[in-house]
Amino acid sequence: MELSWILDHLGEEREAAHASVAPPLVRTSNFSFPTVAAFREGLKREFDAPFYSRGHNPTVAILRRKLAAIDGAEDALVLSSGAGAMAAAVIALTSAGDHVVCVQKPYGWTKKLLTDLLARFHVEHTFVDGTDAENYRRACRPTTRLFILESPNSLTFELTDIEAVCRIAKEKGILSICDNSHSGPLFQRTLSMGVDLNMYTASKYINGHADVVAGVITGRKELVRRIMEKEYMTLGAVVSPDDAWLMLRSLRTLPLRMERSAESAAKVATFLGSHPKVAEVLWPFAPGHPQHDLARKQMTRCGALMSVRLKAKDMAGVERFCDGLRYFLMAVSWGGYESLALPTCAFMGPGLPSTELPWDLVRIYIGLEDPDALIDDLDQALARV
Ligand SMILES: *Cc1c(COP(=O)(O)O)cnc(C)c1O
Repeated sequence: MELSWILDHLGEEREAAHASVAPPLVRTSNFSFPTVAAFREGLKREFDAPFYSRGHNPTVAILRRKLAAIDGAEDALVLSSGAGAMAAAVIALTSAGDHVVCVQKPYGWTKKLLTDLLARFHVEHTFVDGTDAENYRRACRPTTRLFILESPNSLTFELTDIEAVCRIAKEKGILSICDNSHSGPLFQRTLSMGVDLNMYTASKYINGHADVVAGVITGRKELVRRIMEKEYMTLGAVVSPDDAWLMLRSLRTLPLRMERSAESAAKVATFLGSHPKVAEVLWPFAPGHPQHDLARKQMTRCGALMSVRLKAKDMAGVERFCDGLRYFLMAVSWGGYESLALPTCAFMGPGLPSTELPWDLVRIYIGLEDPDALIDDLDQALARV
């Protein structure tokens, strides 16, 4: 289906909503029935028609249809966070005694899901270096049920050859889920590479305005339905109609925002790559990136997230750089209109858990501001390193 049709028209059924051009925000928890017989019929279809908004809500339903169509998937679920989406999917696909192989250094809460939550319920795991797909095969046990991929990761940008890992999964009858938050559904199409479930946060590019937290799962009807009827409904991490409405609003500009950010990021990466105060730029489409060829093969564009390692003598130099930025807000997350800086040294200090990341690394997200103004800002801040 053509992308702009999906984003601007699919599923809106405007005749049914007073010919309203913007979709209706159906802010209700429950739906009523005129007769007992109708109530009974409603219950039978509680996942597919208005009954109770944890299962089905018309505003959320429009969003689900569009997100499924973007991925060319049969179905999509929207949850109240990306972490909730990953948790619901992984819990749905594993039972006590099962084993999961997961890429090393996944998103922090994916790691905690395996090490803290599922370990308590006797689901075992192995973390592997995903830069060699064969590591997934080597980690397999007779009880392995699920592969978790994330490519690239969102701090140091190691890639996994998604097609190669999915071939191993298929050979062995193992299901796979990929955290596609870095690239989102427009820049990397993991389902067509053989992944069974595509998962990504919608808090980042999809919503894009730094005012919603949500997450998405897409895939085959049968798998998505399995997650919906059990973990989605029992864990109950569903998205509100208001947040779904904001995301529908945001989808109109998704390609424009992502292209602008990606375009500006390429300029910024080039600038940083030749700056004397920068030791290294980590950005998969940079010509020197160790997995550049794989990045070009499986990503249509590279997102607006990169990390720099600064030639600073000490942490104070990194702090002077970050404190001196004017356009870049210091904050977690990314994918919004606003450019951001995330220094790893902010996670280091008394009372904070230890991290293996280098102290001279700053992750930078390029938002929608003027790229030349962003470069000027970086330039003046780099002078303080
Ligand atoms: C942000 C993020 C998540 C979690 O999404 P939330 O919506 O914040 O829960 C998961 N994976 C990756 C790679 C992320 O960057």
